[in-house]
Amino acid sequence: MTSRMAGVYTRSVRPPIGPYVRGSVSVVPWDPRVVDVAAEVAGLIRDRRPDLRVEHIGSTAVPGLPGKGVVDLAIATEPADVPRVAGMLTELGFGPQPGPDPWPPTRPMLVGSVERDGITFRLHVHVQPGTEELTRDVAFRDALLADPVLTRDYAALKSEIVEGGLTEGHQYTYQKQAWISEVHRRLGVLRPPISPPATIGILGGGQLGRMLALAARAMGYRIAVLDPDPLCPAAAFADRVVVATYDDVGAALRLADWSDVVTYELEHVAAEVIDAIDAVKPVHPGRVPLGVTQDRLAERAFVERVGLEVAPWRAVGTARELRAAATDLGMPLRLKAARGGYDGRSQLRLVRAADLDGALERLGRPAGQVQLVERELAFEAEVSIVVARGNDGWSATFPLARNVHDDGILIESVAPAPVPPDVAEQAAAMAERLAVAMGLVGTLTAELFLMPDGRLVVNELAPRVHNSGHWTIEGAATSQFEQHIRAICGLGLGATRALAPSAMVNLLGRGPLREARLDAPSLRAALAEPDVHLHLYDKRRVFERRKMGHVTVLGATVDEALDGARAAAERLCWMGETTEGGT
Ligand code: ADP
Ligand code: MG
Repeated sequence: MTSRMAGVYTRSVRPPIGPYVRGSVSVVPWDPRVVDVAAEVAGLIRDRRPDLRVEHIGSTAVPGLPGKGVVDLAIATEPADVPRVAGMLTELGFGPQPGPDPWPPTRPMLVGSVERDGITFRLHVHVQPGTEELTRDVAFRDALLADPVLTRDYAALKSEIVEGGLTEGHQYTYQKQAWISEVHRRLGVLRPPISPPATIGILGGGQLGRMLALAARAMGYRIAVLDPDPLCPAAAFADRVVVATYDDVGAALRLADWSDVVTYELEHVAAEVIDAIDAVKPVHPGRVPLGVTQDRLAERAFVERVGLEVAPWRAVGTARELRAAATDLGMPLRLKAARGGYDGRSQLRLVRAADLDGALERLGRPAGQVQLVERELAFEAEVSIVVARGNDGWSATFPLARNVHDDGILIESVAPAPVPPDVAEQAAAMAERLAVAMGLVGTLTAELFLMPDGRLVVNELAPRVHNSGHWTIEGAATSQFEQHIRAICGLGLGATRALAPSAMVNLLGRGPLREARLDAPSLRAALAEPDVHLHLYDKRRVFERRKMGHVTVLGATVDEALDGARAAAERLCWMGETTEGGT
């Protein structure tokens, strides 16, 4: 029983809603008491705000349907009224949503509990701006109520997910998404896409931002880019450029203001920036994908939680810990800065015991900061896979690429990788599992080591398009860039099949830092073979090993394509490359 007087609870009276206890996900049979619980809580809310629409949604609203047992209520109101509704719920005793990925304050979920017959029933109250989401939720609930076959299928899906083991946090919810949105589609309540000429905001204006912008432009979208450099490679395709660093929250909000949806082309975006944008506009791939990939230690822990393999690793902050790790793991080792490294930068190869001395200092990070050290693996090949996942939960993987790195920088990729079919299938399953587990919307790239025994070990994850996926521009039915745009705009994913064996070779700068001027005769020579496709990123300056562009060749075999791409890349040069001068 709750004690209340005229709907006002004084400090001395315990509010009717008790604290929320986070539990592990287990699927329990439907309990008829949830109906009374939902009705009582809805009544408490309506007593205070008779104008609000309050609905019992989710599994507990469907008699006989097993579920997590959490009673879900949804309230739809005007966007400007959301904070007031949240405040009213807080007075009733509801609290903020715990966990790493809460709904933003613009559409919060509050949590609490009530007691019934000595049992604690957990409560989720979703406060939704506008009625669109509630319409979808209610349509789905009513379809289940009306159709026992649908309810049976839904129950079967749930037990399958629980048996699959991905049940932490939101992972359970993410896995149901594709099935539920298929029902939404049939009911005609699927979330509408973000359609052209909407503006897509991109954090980062490098070559990945440039190629994303190019693909989006082709589809009729407008582009806003945030980058510290007004002449960044993406600027040429942007309607607006916000010149600012990636941790400038005010500038990011300006970008968000101009945009209908925001995405990022690099992991090194400050979490506060993503949080600030998330409160006002959709931002994809999302906060969780960024959080688990921008810190190598968080990434290793995440991959292991998902049940996949990484190289044996330790977190080390001192020379003593590094030595202990070397004893545990064995040499050679790779010491990697937990944050901020790319293209092989901020990592060291430690081969002999003497290399351990001063290694943390040589990494150039503040003393005491914890870094990653891991065993160097004798892999057979490096491979990578790009997976895209839409906001409807459907995902699709591109064919696996086989990559060659030189001192940490990607040199060349071929696809489909010449590996046994079961390896390719395993990689695709791993990528999808990772994307679902982080609730990603957009593209995710998994860099993997293929071991001599056929095992695949996760090396690195990037919640974005990737250099090893550039071959898809000419080589696949849909490019990774178009796919990313389709995913974040809710358009449905494109076909990912390879059109032909493809090879991509990066055009890396050579020589000293100088203005980038292409050597014209070398350009003609590079394009002498008509199968060569040239991509240049319009970087104003060139220096040794800078990524200036790439070439792609489609061939009868990946080896043939690779020969052609290598030959073209070898020929192309920039003026002033050697002392003789590229005349
Ligand atoms: P980056 O962010 O710079 O791409 P990676 O961790 O992917 O960092 O390392 C770059 C490259 O270094 C890899 O592609 C691989 O060639 C090599 N490398 C990194 N870690 C290992 C390892 N544990 N064993 C063997 N090679 C590694
Ligand atoms: Mg890498």
